Amino acid sequence: MNLKYPIWIFIVVLMLLSICCAMAGLMPMTALVYLGVLGGIAAAGLGFLCWRTLKELGELTRSLSTEKPSVAADVVLLKPLVTVLNTALQKLSEPIQTVRQDNQDLNLQLQLLRRRKNGVETILNSIQDAVLVADSQDRLILANPSAEKLFNFKFDSSRLPILSDAIDQSALLDMMLKARNSRVCHVRHELTIKADGENISFDCVLSCVTDDAGRPVSVVAILHDVTREKEISRAKNEFVSHVSHELKTPLASINAYAEMLVDGEAQDAATIRQFCEIIQGQAGRLNRLIEDVLNISRIESGLMKINRQTNSMALILRDSLEMMQSYAKEKNITIHTPPSILFDQVYVDKDMMTQVVVNLLSNAVKYTPSGGQVTVQIEVNDVEGTITVSVTDTGIGIPEQEMSKLFGKFYRVEANKNFAKGTGLGLNLVKQIVETVHGGQVFVRSQQGKGSTFGFVLPLAAAGQPAV
Ligand code: ATP
Ligand code: MG
Repeated sequence: MNLKYPIWIFIVVLMLLSICCAMAGLMPMTALVYLGVLGGIAAAGLGFLCWRTLKELGELTRSLSTEKPSVAADVVLLKPLVTVLNTALQKLSEPIQTVRQDNQDLNLQLQLLRRRKNGVETILNSIQDAVLVADSQDRLILANPSAEKLFNFKFDSSRLPILSDAIDQSALLDMMLKARNSRVCHVRHELTIKADGENISFDCVLSCVTDDAGRPVSVVAILHDVTREKEISRAKNEFVSHVSHELKTPLASINAYAEMLVDGEAQDAATIRQFCEIIQGQAGRLNRLIEDVLNISRIESGLMKINRQTNSMALILRDSLEMMQSYAKEKNITIHTPPSILFDQVYVDKDMMTQVVVNLLSNAVKYTPSGGQVTVQIEVNDVEGTITVSVTDTGIGIPEQEMSKLFGKFYRVEANKNFAKGTGLGLNLVKQIVETVHGGQVFVRSQQGKGSTFGFVLPLAAAGQPAV
């Protein structure tokens, strides 16, 4: 609505009233009435103007506070203000639009970065190797759960601790410091850390991260546990040196006797025969040793050809006893055999199980002084579905502290070494065949000077397993 007209009307009325007042002369009553009307019209006009201004201000505020601020076109009183605001808004609208776009882009980038950060954290947390990152002020800025577990601390990313406060490993701290000072991007060290009373070996890779100016920003340390690899490599070296040592003894003997034969040192037929028998015996020992070594390594590597069938344990015992009878007789040792049992079927490789029983019997005879007794027993546990075979002797026995090591490769009891010869592979092969190949369990009980019982537990053959 245009206000020009009411204002003009108001001015005209005002003038008319003034004339009327003048005409009324000195009549005070009429003048008062006119003044009253004049005041009323003036108050109404002022009120109208205030109301209109407030209304336009309200509209202006509303239109400015929208998403896209613009200036209301329907204003009259505040038109000059509107014009100024419109010009200012037009000038500002372009930068505002740019800022808005930038803001949106930044939000997107922030989301992307957050996602990437979460991804990196998930990967770091799933790594089995311990990962530590320290900044240029020696503060620990990142540690994954493996590192927390290894160094026994809780990493809190909101309170970055000083590296030496979190980790009590001077060797590692030195390595990280050196890596930062030398600014190497990749260096490997071997590190041994004592954790839970055990020495753990680590292959430690350190990298110094630098900025564009080549200043060190952070040092990353990755600790890979190589204890098992080291143990395997140590065991392999030990095994090879043991085997070579064991092979050397019979070979040296064969060589020596063969040389004596060639040099004609054996004059008579009896001596020649004796030398040949020694050579034959040593060759046999060599052969057994090579067989044992090969069998153990085949079982360990899973390359052993296993022919499992349902067999009677009594039959396996009978075959083994037959092989041992002459040796037992030589030493005047009696072997007592168990009475036959109705159901003693086991699902096993017959040749391998025969070797187990032969090894146990040969040890029993070997480590029992002549005139002693060896007793073989079979027990069937129908409830648990197992069969237990034990070989008890009245021999020299084994000291208590040696019992746990008996089934190790090349292990020979120091106190029994002079009593009989051997390589210390027999019991290891027994354990491998019973436990690794057939899922059974070996056991030993012994009393030094009184005798020993070696044996094993195997599951009974289940119905439906193929018979021989
Ligand atoms: P081989 O490889 O020829 O069998 P070995 O008999 O010495 O050599 P194992 O059969 O592995 O080796 O036995 C390991 C050690 O355990 C033996 O050296 C012996 O000291 C001890 N041992 C084994 N059986 C008995 C036993 N019945 N009585 C006493 N000591 C035994
Ligand atoms: Mg033996």
